[in-house]
Amino acid sequence: MSESVAPSEAHAYDFFEVVSAYLRKATDIVGLPAHIQAMLAQPKNELIVHFPVRMDNGKFRMFKGYRIQHNNLLGPYKGGLRFHQDVSLDDVKALASMMTWKCALMGIPYGGAKGGVKFNPRELSQDELMRVTRRFTHALGNNIGPHLDIPAPDVGTNSQIMVWLMDTFMNSVGTSAKNAQRAVVTGKTIECGGSAGRNKATSQGLVHCVTEWAKANRFDLEGKTAIIQGFGNVGSFAALLLAKLGVSTIATGDHSGYMSSTEGFNAHKLREYVSKNGSIDGYAGGTPISRDEFFGTKADIFIPAALENQIGAHEAQLLDVKLIAEGANGPTNLDGERILDERGIPIIPDILCNSGGVTVSYYEWVQNLNSEAWDLEKVDAKLEKAMKDAYGRVMQVSRDRNITPRIAAYVVALERLNVAFSQRGIFP
Ligand code: NAD
Repeated sequence: MSESVAPSEAHAYDFFEVVSAYLRKATDIVGLPAHIQAMLAQPKNELIVHFPVRMDNGKFRMFKGYRIQHNNLLGPYKGGLRFHQDVSLDDVKALASMMTWKCALMGIPYGGAKGGVKFNPRELSQDELMRVTRRFTHALGNNIGPHLDIPAPDVGTNSQIMVWLMDTFMNSVGTSAKNAQRAVVTGKTIECGGSAGRNKATSQGLVHCVTEWAKANRFDLEGKTAIIQGFGNVGSFAALLLAKLGVSTIATGDHSGYMSSTEGFNAHKLREYVSKNGSIDGYAGGTPISRDEFFGTKADIFIPAALENQIGAHEAQLLDVKLIAEGANGPTNLDGERILDERGIPIIPDILCNSGGVTVSYYEWVQNLNSEAWDLEKVDAKLEKAMKDAYGRVMQVSRDRNITPRIAAYVVALERLNVAFSQRGIFP
């Protein structure tokens, strides 16, 4: 078997163009007026900041950060914050626009945004990470806020980073207004205003989608297998939650490499190992395999939960699964999708499948604004209903209009945006 690299490493990849192509397809189906399509085709605001950070060795290093505010028709801008060495303007634009579609699809009163800082967080100490987060928050200044733009975790960031962001923002406003600013960010630790169930929310939503798919296809999940690319927040919680349904993860991988386990990984142990060691590398409970062997592993479900542009034509040919549930944003490129479609492998698309994260972020925001703390049962029940409703709506539109679930998800989102645009008109 020839060894593959991610399609993104093989040639330049235009993620924003891929998302724009989905938008154009859905636009035609919805009959969206040209001026609304033009407004949605580009973000409203693109903020790029450069800021200095003192490193542990006493020297200063400059960092480049982005916050792209795509649209706020339905509510405040909302979207994750990524710390990764490959962060680029176009990728963040793509991810920001996907947040607009995701929130509209889920019926959440938010617009779409995304942000990022271009560096490798694995190379920095905790203190350095804190200073990067605080200086980035300071550089964003009044461009974020509980009713303006609300960041959340994404690749390379976590609840601790959200708390540093919150603390910095709270300390930059007057004393009397301080506590009203807690809702500036979601995905915080419970102790600092986070919501029960937020850490597993994206994966929980994904698992609800998988369960709905299994129900509709009379597919018994008990005793089935999954392969998961990425063992961070989304991948590891997906493995844990699937294990509860009797689905074992038999291969996984991250930035350090890939591994298989014929009897299935112990998701708790692997998660613990990764949180201590930073990657799956060296984990004794699995056998190292190549990237191609990972993609070629025969299993029932494939969950991409790493980065965009991981499933190209080559990977789509290798995959030997019955279902793809997209935990990551944009994991499948256009060539990959065409081949999967020809091969009849269904995809639960990202803006539906991973929308549990922003849905529970919304619950966190509502709790913060009302000084409430909901229990896990309440969060779980609300999320389950939201995911099942959205899944049902997307699949219904897909069947009725004979379009893929991905385009159907865009259609549902665009129809909601279209109505709001038409009712409000264009100012002045
Ligand atoms: P994370 O940083 O916790 O985990 C990312 C994982 O991807 C890590 O295991 C990392 O090693 C792996 N990875 C990085 N580069 C890789 C490569 N080249 N090949 C293989 N694996 C690689 O991030 P996360 O929050 O779990 O996010 C994963 C995906 O899910 C992203 O696409 C993100 O946008 C999407 N997502 C996350 C959330 C959320 O709530 N965190 C919500 C919706 C969507």
